[in-house]
Amino acid sequence: MKPAPFRYHRPRSLADTLQLLVTLENAKLIAGGQSLGPMMNMRLVQPAELIDLNALAGLDLIAEKDDFLEIGALARHHAVESSTLVKKHCPLLAEAAGTIGHYAIRSRGTLGGSLAHADPAAQLPLVAATLGAEIVVNGKRGERRIAAKDFFVSMMTTALEADEIVVSARFPKAAAGDRHAYLQFSRRTGDFAIVAVAAVLHSRKLRLGIGGAEDKPLVFEDFSAHEDPQAIARKVREAVQPTESPRVPALYREELVEVLVKRAVARCLTSI
Ligand SMILES: Cc1cc2nc3c(=O)[nH]c(=O)nc-3n(C[C@H](O)[C@H](O)[C@H](O)COP(=O)(O)OP(=O)(O)OC[C@H]3O[C@@H](n4cnc5c(N)ncnc54)[C@H](O)[C@@H]3O)c2cc1C
Repeated sequence: MKPAPFRYHRPRSLADTLQLLVTLENAKLIAGGQSLGPMMNMRLVQPAELIDLNALAGLDLIAEKDDFLEIGALARHHAVESSTLVKKHCPLLAEAAGTIGHYAIRSRGTLGGSLAHADPAAQLPLVAATLGAEIVVNGKRGERRIAAKDFFVSMMTTALEADEIVVSARFPKAAAGDRHAYLQFSRRTGDFAIVAVAAVLHSRKLRLGIGGAEDKPLVFEDFSAHEDPQAIARKVREAVQPTESPRVPALYREELVEVLVKRAVARCLTSI
């Protein structure tokens, strides 16, 4: 199928973009088009106006700040995966970005698009939630920063207002000695994860993020490196409540949560 007819806009500044967002009826932003394109082709969404973000200069920058990396909304997944700064300061983010879809998707898809799209199984929302990132958004009331735990509300629903766009995300830098693991299970290479687990070990404390199990990323931060990985995995399994779906039974996701958490924790601990 092909998309329903729409008018196309390519603003050159953030101010013009925000102006278009408040004045146009039934408008949608497009960045990499890797999620919106298929949805428009299938006519699951039919925007009357399409606002292309790709001419906004500077929105793809990856910059080192005091204790965080600021990554622009237009940074492509491949740029995040291959950035020396991201590999050095947010290795979990670089590793997870490298597992998104296929190369063609990673070369077009953007950080801002993935965060705004908020697929519960997507890598970047999971890593943002696990690392305690902040999402920087801009709208007619100006800029605001939203903690990832408040940004992801439910399946494909975020705290973003209709007049706002994601401009960047701030990811805390890893400390010396931190360990991480990213594991996911998909039916085929390049498919969305059925369940994904992100783990960070910092000062003998474990932070665990679970994607794909519920309608948004879940984060657990009360575990310590002294606990048995199997016991942690069991507790996380008992805490998640996957919804039943015809293609993937809830029990199957529960099993995956337990297996992947155990392996991710063990990987963090054995690399100490
Ligand atoms: C075959 C295939 C496999 C894929 N596999 C994976 C996978 O394994 N893991 C994964 O995470 N993703 C996967 N994706 C999706 C891909 O990562 C997308 O790039 C991403 O979800 C959306 O980014 P985008 O830049 O393409 O956004 P778009 O498709 O352009 O937009 C997506 C949504 O975000 C909104 N939006 C875009 N940018 C902004 C912004 N700056 N501010 C506010 N709203 C914005 C749009 O209005 C739209 O609603 C896959 C896609 C395909 C086609």
